[in-house]
Amino acid sequence: MATEDEDEYDGWDDVACDHEGYDVDIISGRAFCWRCGEAWSVSDEELRRHAEAMAEYAEWEERENRRQWWRDLWNGLTTPIRKFTRRLSPDADDGIPF
Ligand SMILES: [Zn+2]
Repeated sequence: MATEDEDEYDGWDDVACDHEGYDVDIISGRAFCWRCGEAWSVSDEELRRHAEAMAEYAEWEERENRRQWWRDLWNGLTTPIRKFTRRLSPDADDGIPF
């Protein structure tokens, strides 16, 4: 029954999937391919690398958020002062006169 196999043919198999885009579940230690849906176990080494990359990214993201937070805070604090000093001395725009 060759036709039965062909009916179930989903078209993915003719291109070998290189699992280029996949996600790693650190908890279960398994990788899951977005493209072909294949799941496989990853080595401890790969798991560690992935965990490190994720930690690095989280760190970077947190740093960025914190920087943005300070920037917002600084802007929030200095904008009224700038407006205030500009009103006191309209010709001293470039610095705080004290
Ligand atoms: Zn794949």
